[in-house]
Amino acid sequence: QTQSKTPHIAIFPSPGMGHLIPLIEFAKRLVHHHQFSITFLIPTDGPPSKAQKSTLESLPASINSVFLPPVTLNDVPEDVRIETVISLTVARSLPSLREELKSLVANTPLVGFVVDLFGTDGFDVAREFNVSSYIFYPSTAMALSLFLYLEKLDEMVSCEYRDMSEPVNIPGCIPIHGRDLLDPVQDRKNDAYKYVLHHAKRYKLADGIMVNSFMDLEVGAIKALQKEEPGKPAVYPVGPLVNMGSSSSSGTEKEECIKWLDDQPHGSVLFVSFGSGGTLSSEQLNELAIGLEMSGQRFLWVVRSPNDKAANATFFSAQSQKDPFEFLPKGFLDRTKGRGLVVPSWAPQARVLSHGSTGGFLTHCGWNSVLESVVNGVPLIAWPLYAEQKMNTVMLTEDIKVALRPKANANGLMKEKKLPELSKV
Ligand code: UDP
Repeated sequence: QTQSKTPHIAIFPSPGMGHLIPLIEFAKRLVHHHQFSITFLIPTDGPPSKAQKSTLESLPASINSVFLPPVTLNDVPEDVRIETVISLTVARSLPSLREELKSLVANTPLVGFVVDLFGTDGFDVAREFNVSSYIFYPSTAMALSLFLYLEKLDEMVSCEYRDMSEPVNIPGCIPIHGRDLLDPVQDRKNDAYKYVLHHAKRYKLADGIMVNSFMDLEVGAIKALQKEEPGKPAVYPVGPLVNMGSSSSSGTEKEECIKWLDDQPHGSVLFVSFGSGGTLSSEQLNELAIGLEMSGQRFLWVVRSPNDKAANATFFSAQSQKDPFEFLPKGFLDRTKGRGLVVPSWAPQARVLSHGSTGGFLTHCGWNSVLESVVNGVPLIAWPLYAEQKMNTVMLTEDIKVALRPKANANGLMKEKKLPELSKV
């Protein structure tokens, strides 16, 4: 076999569309600006999802992808947290990662190995092949600053972070209450916390860290991250890396919802979506529907069947379990016809946010969603659900001030009348 001369980079994304999408944007830049070729080595615990396949099929020829053989998670209790599932999927994929790297090293000049926030176990395998390892951090500089600070915080604080009387001072960031830190650090006895801490401690093994943010947005956090300290890797703000949605996935016909947006007045539509993983309880779904109906506002809503147990029920598939329309209030679709459009499970979000008819975004504040909105100048209504979304919300509402946050009632429920009006956002 002849060796290709193009320098090659292997990317090992941890499960979740919110990790894969920004890594793909990163890969595109490496191809276009630096003439690398790329192979995605993707850990799985089952067949790839529709969303994964359609996203990967649209890539240029110099970006390849390989789905690693699915790992077995039969022994993992059903109620473990998502960070545990992600970390185990990554850890159990290391033998197949090793095989793939072996063949890449044999056939290409492999110059780098890139993981995202939960992929640090891959470093050990890359080292066997003498390949430099990097982290692409797909969230905020603030969250990254917390990851690099976590080991110290863990040593300093003995109680749960949410019970601290003082706010947490993450280097370079607005002080934040412990209860607003990312989900997996909320229960320090849970394995999910141990995994986050495990990865966080390994960040110093990276040869460099790229973060999907930029100076104008997070100057304090980025400056703190770039302060040189012994043992701390160099941090590069490379954002905003977002899919601008200009090319449709396969260049084929326009989706129904984009055609619908074409017919709406400029800046009139509220886009409502909770990322790839977000699900609401049935009660909350109902309140949101009533709120949208009562608001009189035009809306485009990506709806999934409700889940009363978890707010991230579709994280690995992005796909509704059941027909979500069955869970909407009776007659809702008829009463909002023309003014509202409801799309099941998945919409071409990047194209929706760059469409002139979109005037606001009710979002779970996943970082990709936030960046896609910010680069298009679309103001936000912040409705955090899981992961680091509460941290993002604090930053967006109190620090950068590009979002409003509706108030939940005592039961944590957002009632229909509390949605801020679009005109006031
Ligand atoms: N996304 C999409 N269509 C959908 C839902 C999500 O294209 O219906 C994309 C969205 O544009 C973003 C990513 O999936 O790029 C979701 O990432 P984010 O960080 O916002 O949230 P996560 O899904 O990781 O919670």
